[in-house]
Amino acid sequence: MTSKIDAHQFLSDLRIRTPHEEEFHQATGEVIPDLVPVVNENKEYLDAGILPRLVEPDRIITFRVSWVDDSGAVQVNRGYRVQFNGAIGPYKGGLRFHPTVNTSVLKFLGFEQTFKNGLTGLPMGGGKGGSDFDPSGRSDAEIMRFCQAFMGELYRHIGADTDVPAGDINVGAREIGYLFGAYRRITNRFEGVLTGKGLSFGGSDMRTEATGYGVIQFLSCMLAAHNEDLDGKSVVISGAGNVATHAAELALDRGAKVITLSDSNGFIHDKDGLTQDKIDWVRTHKSQPGASLEKYASEFDADWHADKAPWYVVCDIAIPSATQNELDAEGIKALIDNGCMALVEGANMPTTAQAKELVKQSDLLFAPGKAANAGGVAVSGLEISQNKMRKSMSKKALCEELMQIMTNIHDTCADEGQGGKRIDYAKGANIAGFRKVADAMLAQGVG
Ligand code: GLU
Repeated sequence: MTSKIDAHQFLSDLRIRTPHEEEFHQATGEVIPDLVPVVNENKEYLDAGILPRLVEPDRIITFRVSWVDDSGAVQVNRGYRVQFNGAIGPYKGGLRFHPTVNTSVLKFLGFEQTFKNGLTGLPMGGGKGGSDFDPSGRSDAEIMRFCQAFMGELYRHIGADTDVPAGDINVGAREIGYLFGAYRRITNRFEGVLTGKGLSFGGSDMRTEATGYGVIQFLSCMLAAHNEDLDGKSVVISGAGNVATHAAELALDRGAKVITLSDSNGFIHDKDGLTQDKIDWVRTHKSQPGASLEKYASEFDADWHADKAPWYVVCDIAIPSATQNELDAEGIKALIDNGCMALVEGANMPTTAQAKELVKQSDLLFAPGKAANAGGVAVSGLEISQNKMRKSMSKKALCEELMQIMTNIHDTCADEGQGGKRIDYAKGANIAGFRKVADAMLAQGVG
């Protein structure tokens, strides 16, 4: 007879077993307390050790990436792939190139991805990878050589039926193209080993838009469940990448007024609101190496706030879409004091643990990243299906499917998140994602 689990004890044992993994402790600390009551009520989950198995990645691969920069100097970076949980399908999750990448960050991302992928209803396990390589200021030729060197080792560990990486921060269409070319040449196999590919070599329509559009669809469902809609709402968004600009685009389309975007240098506050033309300008501008959003301010007569985050701007809705822990307790206090009604995580874990405690005590509607930003990996799942069938779906069909998946995710999280004075979407997402993975682990036996 396995004894019941105490969440506090479980997390403190985990911290001892995995020292110096702050981000991973933060992610597990936000999920495990919601799961413990579910596990303690189910003897099968307890006896099969589902929870201790769920916090231990299936495997972590680390490797050296040596490459030659434009000056002829040899550079060495560390590459990673965390294959977190493969119970419901081949590992699936992005590659991130950023100096902050380390085992803790990738374990947190792989753990979150396991639940997120479960929520999509598609057969994808959780994984994440990348490198501490910093692409800022690097030439196109250097990016290509780095991607080739990275794939020179990664190819051994991935495949269309084993592990299918995609993009994440600093890994977009260009990098996926270089990585795919390297994989194809090394293995002599043309297969759907990566998603986010170019349309001419097996990519899917809507993949670029998917994460940002999905965020807005989740938000629309959440507002509708509370007799609200986006029309006329002011929206503060952080980030200026793929997620942020596509979230802005669909929010505009649904009648909202988007007033900020940000990058690592600061944020722009455009009181007149963004337009499609302004968003297009941001995309073109930001695709140039080292370009700062500051130029937007003079181009469109907006305010530029150097080295600041946009959470102090009065708004109805906030969508952090840059990176982990970008929204702290001070930021949340400002949002709440200024009457913000909804917070939707476009990025993965953008809200600090302390800030999340304040969210829980407030009336703010909160959509966790693992649910709200699942549209990207969902369309990746559809890219995998299209590659397997050697067929492509139309943009219209993909868009409808994406919207349906996001609506289903919303409804599933809402169902599991009942019981309090408001729908607890964070708890709902944790429990719904967990059930999917846990039941598959149970059926497949201990291993
Ligand atoms: N990096 C994205 C995420 O955080 C997408 C992963 C994918 O498409 O595999 O979900």
